[in-house]
Amino acid sequence: MTYKTVTLKRGKEESLKRFHPWVFSGAIAAADDTIEEGDLVTVYASDGTLIGNGHSQIGSIAVRMLTFDDTAIDEAFYEQRLNDAYKMRQALGMQREDNNAYRLVHGEGDFLPGLVVDIYGPTAVMQAHSPCMHFARNIIAQALAKLPGVHNVYYKSETTLPYMAHLDPVNDYIVGSMETDEALENGLRFHVDWLKGQKTGFFVDQRENRRLLEHYSRGRKVLNMFCYTGGFSVYALRGDAQLVHSVDSSAKAVRLTDDNVTLNFGDNESRHKSYAEDAFKFLDNMEKDAYDLIILDPPAFAKHKSALRNALIGYRRLNAKALEKIAPGSILFTFSCSQAVNKEQFRLAVFSAAAQTRRRVRILHQLTQPADHPINIYHPEGEYLKGLVLYVE
Ligand code: SAH
Repeated sequence: MTYKTVTLKRGKEESLKRFHPWVFSGAIAAADDTIEEGDLVTVYASDGTLIGNGHSQIGSIAVRMLTFDDTAIDEAFYEQRLNDAYKMRQALGMQREDNNAYRLVHGEGDFLPGLVVDIYGPTAVMQAHSPCMHFARNIIAQALAKLPGVHNVYYKSETTLPYMAHLDPVNDYIVGSMETDEALENGLRFHVDWLKGQKTGFFVDQRENRRLLEHYSRGRKVLNMFCYTGGFSVYALRGDAQLVHSVDSSAKAVRLTDDNVTLNFGDNESRHKSYAEDAFKFLDNMEKDAYDLIILDPPAFAKHKSALRNALIGYRRLNAKALEKIAPGSILFTFSCSQAVNKEQFRLAVFSAAAQTRRRVRILHQLTQPADHPINIYHPEGEYLKGLVLYVE
């Protein structure tokens, strides 16, 4: 394997010496003019010192580092990184009799920028976010299949690879085939549709937050907004909620929720109802005090920094609508999964919503992503999920 070379401008090696894994295009003094997207590159400081190996990409992040030494990026490298990731999930107790849905690889958080792998029982669903990972997909899939319990590897990158790279990836099994679409999370059963669902088919990142919600659900009237596969709804039902209403603008998502309620509680679960409706409209039309536990888990309002201002307005409006109508003595679980919005900004948006409605509001919990979505300490950008649990009087 040949590596192209990239040499940095003077002083631009500083963040890399502290293991931050991104090289911005503006930091580059010279590069092989034959570099193509997805090529492996060796990065040098301006004085010729080797920094490490990474993969190139077109855009403001020109190189994502895979090593901070001269370790080759080959089969042994991927096997090692995947084994490290697996070992950590074992330490976390992710694979248990009552749990087999978890994230095995979380990009930079597992020192594999550009790669995401979620495990659903015997199936690993793999997403490449950068061309290099696409080129290495077969090696990665074979290495995944060597891990205990992984029988099938489904590759799903049609919507995650840069469109301009013209790689035309095909979503398909690289190893094995469909075995079961059922996965277990904290003892609850879920159908996971990795073929047609969003992302890898399920949001494993809310697992611990759902468990906390279950704890608060007893006897409450629960509204699960942006329900998708109904994760929060199913936990609320197990937690003895009095009723659970699930809302999503996508009719398909509502069907997934209904299916998962049936899978766990049979067809006669009269406490549950679902609505294919826009969240903002639903909140506008609902009666005051109809619910005393509301979950707001919207899609990312800001996918990029440029959308930040509008995203913050969106979070404020959404939370204000819920805070206006929620019953006294209620609990509100509110989330943002936008990476571009930080913890303080999100909290400020919720604060503004609270102030606008003049309710007495206290913060009970400050939530984040679970341990199987680790944050590389040298890459704080990896922190993306934020949540607040509020007590509203
Ligand atoms: N809470 C879910 C994940 C939510 S993903 C979980 O625990 O798995 C976001 C969901 O919001 C998607 O299913 C999407 O269909 C839905 N959505 C997007 N815009 C919406 C809107 N305006 N009103 C209602 N639902 C919306």
